Amino acid sequence: MKITTHRVSAPLHTPFITALRTATHVESLLVEVSDGELSGWGEAPQVWKVTGDSLAGSQACIEGPITTALDGLGPDDLTEALRRVQGAAVGNFGAKDAVDVALHDLAARRRGQTLHGFLGSTVDLVRTDVTLSVGDAAALATAGRDRVADGFDVLKIKVGTDAVGDIERVRRVREAIGPEPRLRLDANQGWTRRDAVRVIRALEDAGCAIELVEQPVAAADLDGMAWVTDRVSTPILADESVYGVRDLVAVIRQGAADLVNVKLAKCGGLAPARTLLELAREHGLGAIVGCMMESHVGVGAAAALVSAYPTTTVNDLDAAWWLREAPVTGIRYDGSLIHLPSAPGLGVTGLTA
Ligand SMILES: [Mg+2]
Repeated sequence: MKITTHRVSAPLHTPFITALRTATHVESLLVEVSDGELSGWGEAPQVWKVTGDSLAGSQACIEGPITTALDGLGPDDLTEALRRVQGAAVGNFGAKDAVDVALHDLAARRRGQTLHGFLGSTVDLVRTDVTLSVGDAAALATAGRDRVADGFDVLKIKVGTDAVGDIERVRRVREAIGPEPRLRLDANQGWTRRDAVRVIRALEDAGCAIELVEQPVAAADLDGMAWVTDRVSTPILADESVYGVRDLVAVIRQGAADLVNVKLAKCGGLAPARTLLELAREHGLGAIVGCMMESHVGVGAAAALVSAYPTTTVNDLDAAWWLREAPVTGIRYDGSLIHLPSAPGLGVTGLTA
């Protein structure tokens, strides 16, 4: 098998603004695993602020230890290849994710199957939420109305910057969009445990009907997250606290959250993600699948996963919706619905530019 990496830069139709940065492009690393005839594709997103993975680091890991680990293996030895990818290096979840997905994609193509069909799904549609860019209360309210008009019925608001302002911003968005659309919050570790309880209870008392609150406190503070989970009615979703199985077991043991957000770029691909989703289900923990700012390859793999392994609520797979031009063919958005491709694998036929 031949492994090739491609750096891509895809422009967004609308700047994506978070508390940490303003993005106008998605910079990403695509990987192509070829058997000489067919190619499987995967993606390693750049995620400095969460996993620490960079394009340069992922490229070095893929071209170095992962390529070495796969040396001499044939494309039909999927289980062994996936095992070697995970063992090739410590960390580097983006690199492992990219090659794990590319190997699955290639295996599906060699059988003439879609990736989601290969994973066991018969469903061609999955739902996603959409995140509102960070702004003041008025800008958020406008963005909320715009996204509902775009066909989204589950909106996610980034909070966690200042507790008092957060309450006001969320109330204004709820007022602007009316009672129907679902509203979920992501604090990205930004609150103290006391702030978290204060804000969430205030929103409960104000009747804002928040579906769930993601990562209210610091990733390493499982005690704090358990403290919050015990004191509010709104479900708590662990994101940055959970990369792999060991983290998920700790969350389950401590009762630290009600749900877990599984992301391919945190756990290292489809094989580890399936393990996490099965573990969550066995222990009665809710789950969603999310993504980083990445293109149709990474989001398409996550969408294929949830179509085969249903999660307990709407997933967080809007990243590729923000792209003005797709760097590859594959999934297609229709408001909150993601159409999975009917072409083999991820439906990628090569780079479009
Ligand atoms: Mg999150």
